[in-house]
Amino acid sequence: NLSSTATLHNGVGMPWVGLGVYKVDSGAEGAEIVQTALNVGYRSIDTASFYDNEESVGQALKATNVPREELFVTTKVWNNEQGYEETLAAFDRSMEKLGLDYLDLYLIHWPVPGKFKDTWKALEKLYKDGRVKAIGVSNFEPHHLEELLEVAEITPMVNQIEMHPQLNQKHIRYYCAQHTIQVVAWSPIGRGRFFENETIQRLAKAYDKSPAQVILRWEYQHGVITIPKSAKEHRQKENGDVFDFSLTQEEMNEIDSLHTGERIGAHPDEFD
Ligand code: NAD
Repeated sequence: NLSSTATLHNGVGMPWVGLGVYKVDSGAEGAEIVQTALNVGYRSIDTASFYDNEESVGQALKATNVPREELFVTTKVWNNEQGYEETLAAFDRSMEKLGLDYLDLYLIHWPVPGKFKDTWKALEKLYKDGRVKAIGVSNFEPHHLEELLEVAEITPMVNQIEMHPQLNQKHIRYYCAQHTIQVVAWSPIGRGRFFENETIQRLAKAYDKSPAQVILRWEYQHGVITIPKSAKEHRQKENGDVFDFSLTQEEMNEIDSLHTGERIGAHPDEFD
């Protein structure tokens, strides 16, 4: 169910499915979407300072009667906030907006060249000071991780990357598995772009599941955490209901073979 967790390399549990809130409204409407998800059973919320909705997430967290220790809140330091001192200040701003006294997971949103290693040092300090339970990165290719690991005292617990059937990220998943870094998929259902795909449709019919559920199940069976976004209660429920069926190895291979390399977001070497 929505509170079942993957164990990160420092022993912290992170729910297998969380709610992504990119493009969720920054006002009361956003808070309502998060509250609905908490009522549906979501325990993990993925935001970022860049999404400009940490305050709405904070409102929902304040209003809920779900105990703090059952919640798992992720936020991220944005590109123009990177550097050692800048990141420490950005963390304080995020925490103020979220209204939390500790965070569950803090991520470097993108590997800003020349900055991400200093940013990582700040995350390590926040971790050692007990202000965050786990730290990680996002949009890191193996070569970024190699560079980071040269200076890191703490191996990132998580790498959050774009992943869906068109971009299956086999090389990053392999690298992360070797280094005990948990992969989290963003745009895990590819924003609905290939729900019409013949293979996905056939498997959905065979299991009496939706295309979104088939794709999220494929990621789960690859050991990948997902954070699908939906503002609608029935879709939030649907996206969380992926634990009662299982794809065969052959079906996993079939979905693997849908890879084209086509991206939704920027390549981590080319973002601006
Ligand atoms: P997604 O793959 O989660 O798709 C979301 C969209 O698909 C929704 O807006 C909705 O239109 C549709 N949808 C959702 N559930 C559906 C269902 N069951 N049936 C039919 N349609 C459905 O895409 P996303 O929002 O880009 O990614 C999810 C989260 O990942 C974001 O909200 C954000 O938290 C995170 N993210 C991170 C980065 C990063 O750089 N780290 C980048 C993009 C997104």
